[in-house]
Amino acid sequence: MEFETVIGLEIHTQMKTESKIFCSCSTTFGAPPNTHTCPVCLGMPGSLPVLNRQVVHNAVKLALACDFTINRRNQFARKNYFYPDLPKGYQISQFELPIAEHGKIDIEVEGRKKTIGITRAHMEEDAGKLVHSDTEPESYVDLNRAGTPLVEIVSEPDLRSPEEAVAYLKKLHAIVRYLNISDGNMQEGSFRCDANISLRPAGQKEFGIRTELKNMNSFRNVQLALEYEERRQRDVLLDGGKVVQQTLLWNPDKNCTEPMRGKEEAHDYRYFPDPDLVPVEIDDAWIEEVRREMPELPEARQRRFMDVLGLPEYDAEILTASRQLADFFEAVCAEYDNPKKVSNFIGTELLRDYGPERIDQCPVTPQQLASLLTMVEKATISGKIAKTVFGDMLATGEDPEKIVKDKGLIQMSDTCELTAMVREIIAANPAQAQQFRDGKTKVIGFFVGQLMQKTKGKANPQMANKLFREELQ
Ligand code: ADP
Ligand code: MG
Ligand code: ZN
Repeated sequence: MEFETVIGLEIHTQMKTESKIFCSCSTTFGAPPNTHTCPVCLGMPGSLPVLNRQVVHNAVKLALACDFTINRRNQFARKNYFYPDLPKGYQISQFELPIAEHGKIDIEVEGRKKTIGITRAHMEEDAGKLVHSDTEPESYVDLNRAGTPLVEIVSEPDLRSPEEAVAYLKKLHAIVRYLNISDGNMQEGSFRCDANISLRPAGQKEFGIRTELKNMNSFRNVQLALEYEERRQRDVLLDGGKVVQQTLLWNPDKNCTEPMRGKEEAHDYRYFPDPDLVPVEIDDAWIEEVRREMPELPEARQRRFMDVLGLPEYDAEILTASRQLADFFEAVCAEYDNPKKVSNFIGTELLRDYGPERIDQCPVTPQQLASLLTMVEKATISGKIAKTVFGDMLATGEDPEKIVKDKGLIQMSDTCELTAMVREIIAANPAQAQQFRDGKTKVIGFFVGQLMQKTKGKANPQMANKLFREELQ
């Protein structure tokens, strides 16, 4: 029996703002527990929330990037539930009137393009964090995170495989990073996702019963958790059983999903408009202001890299995986105008150590990389030596010129000096020399190799080739 997988994602992305959404406490991650708190985010009676304009600004940016309809008038609502990390007993969120609805993004999996609908995006505050002690029968509450601004992005159930889900997640991640509205740090929880998944017999119209997966803090975990759950549900259905609608936690150590303990399962949040906050009004001028700030988005940039810089699609896609990588690449090209060569070098030498999200930690500047590639272009050093020099640049952050000079790596193009060595090598290897004269010209590789060894890779390879041919003939 064939089944079709149906997936919908709920993504919480923390907005990059200095202060929290309804008070002036700092949003900095990692401060000592409960030091970034005040009466508002502690939920003290009588304290009143004041909306942070930047959060709305960021949400509008996201809405423009993903073709949402912006609700010019939207409203905060109270989502009531009881949990120790929620001091007010309700979370301020949006319900009936979210800031944005009916968005979409395009994804591509195995060469197939597909548009994924986004039901809504709404602003809300984050809850605090419970810290469970390993040694004591106690738990602690840290309210530094309480009141941190989030935008929740809820997709339509349009995704049909774990691969599509991950592609969608990666695309949105790249977009929020390009827009600079979230740092997207998954380990720190700034970009986290709950996945809803169900199976239905192929051809059936109605969706099957879904489970919801929580606790996935990397793309890989999302992929693994969904694959696991897909298999589990298929087994249940093939056995003639029914999938139980429930919330599951992904256990990355055991590689399986487990039912979540406790926490309200029946959703009765008794939403109602928050009487402490007036509706948010967004006028045309504000939207225009945001529009003017919009950067070039990943897709447009990829197209430009292909159409204007002449890069293959593969290169363009890799280089636009993050804004910082694309910026780095363009900064190198500004000083060394050969996009394909820059792309090749970044692809093989740089991304191995510094992935698209870690480029800003790379000690080599775009200018230094451009100088290195220029030295190869001018035949000051060989392409092979450039790779070793680059290794040193990564380790020390020094300029390539200095490394090449200090280590005496300048390519030998002095014909006299090289000819002397070439003659020496031929004299020392009469058998191979004879082979060459007998027509086995491939043996030239052996001779060039000998010269490279002798010069520690510094001989200009084209010149070495030429000299050996001349001398042997
Ligand atoms: P809730 O508020 O209970 O989480 P929603 O209706 O808001 O429920 O849906 C949450 C997510 O679940 C959405 O992303 C939606 O696309 C997805 N979803 C809804 N029904 C299904 C289903 N049968 N299978 C898979 N995903 C689903
Ligand atoms: Mg849900
Ligand atoms: Zn506060």
